[in-house]
Amino acid sequence: MADEWVFPKGELMRGKRGLIMGVANDKSIAWGIASQLAAQGAELAFTYQGDALEKRVRPLVQSIGADTMLECDATNDAQLDSVFDALKQKWGKLDFLVHSIAFSDKNELKGSFVENTTRENFLRSMDISAFSFVAAGRRASKMMERGGSMITLTYLGAERVLPSYNVMGVAKAALEASMRYMARDLGPAGIRVNAISAGAMRTLAIAGIQGGRGLIQTGREWSVMKEDTSMEGIAGCALWLCSDLGRSTTGEVIHVDAGFHIVGVPSPDGE
Ligand code: NAD
Repeated sequence: MADEWVFPKGELMRGKRGLIMGVANDKSIAWGIASQLAAQGAELAFTYQGDALEKRVRPLVQSIGADTMLECDATNDAQLDSVFDALKQKWGKLDFLVHSIAFSDKNELKGSFVENTTRENFLRSMDISAFSFVAAGRRASKMMERGGSMITLTYLGAERVLPSYNVMGVAKAALEASMRYMARDLGPAGIRVNAISAGAMRTLAIAGIQGGRGLIQTGREWSVMKEDTSMEGIAGCALWLCSDLGRSTTGEVIHVDAGFHIVGVPSPDGE
C-alpha cells in the first residue's frame, strides 16, 4: 500500500526540477519515485495519459503540493511538444526526467511469442515502451543546459526469456539499447541516462501479463534476499541516479530486484 512506504526526508533534491511520466495511480512505480524525490525537496511536474487517469492522478499530485499536470499520450508528438513548451515557460530549465511508461496488448502477453505477436502490436509496444523514452529524452535534453539525469524503468525480460512477457521483453531490450545510445550522445553535455531494472511489483501494468502474480511470487522465492522488491528500494535507486550522488554513473541498467537476476537455478527448499 502506498501509505506504508517509508521514504527518508532530506534536502538532496532541493533546487532541482523534474518531470515524472507514468503515474496512473498510487501503486505506480512512477508515484513511488515521485514521492521519494518530493520528500527530498524536488519540484515536480507530471504527465498523465488521458482524462480517465487525470482524476486519479490529480489528488496524488496535490498531496505533495505540486500543481503542474500535463496531458501526454506518448505516441502523440504534438502533446509531447506542448508538455516541454509548457515546462520551458514555467521553469526554463529541467534537471531530471523519470520515464515510467509501457504498453502492450494483453492478448499478446501470454502463450507463444512466435504465434501470438502481431505486427501492429509489436510496433505499438515498441513505440510506447521504447521510442517514447527517446522522444521525451530528446525534448528534455534541450532544457538541460547545465546537465541532468534521465531514468527509465525496465525488467529482466529484456535479458532473459520469462513466461508471457513476450513482445514486452523485445521492447524492453530496445529500451535498454536506446538508453545506452542516449547516454553516449548526451554524455558530453553532462546528461546522464540510466535504466532501473525493477523486480516484479503489484501494479496495473503487471496485471496485464498472464501469470503476472506468479512473476512476483517467483521473484520473491528465487531472489537471493528471499523477499519482494520494495518500492523504497526502487525509489532510493531513482533518488541516487537523479541526484548529484549519481554524478559519474551513466549508461547503466541497475537491477533493483532483491538479487533475482543473478540466480540461474533456485536453491532447493531449506538451503
Ligand atoms: P503502471 O500501470 O502504474 O504504469 C504504466 C504507465 O504507463 C501508466 O501510467 C500508463 O498511463 C502509462 N502509459 C501506457 N501507455 C501510454 C501512452 N500511450 N502514453 C502515455 N503513457 C502511457 O505500472 P508500473 O508497473 O508502475 O509501470 C511503470 C514502468 O515500470 C513500466 O515501464 C513497466 O514496464 C516498468 N516495470 C514494471 C514492473 C512491475 O513489475 N510492475 C517491473 C519492472 C519494470
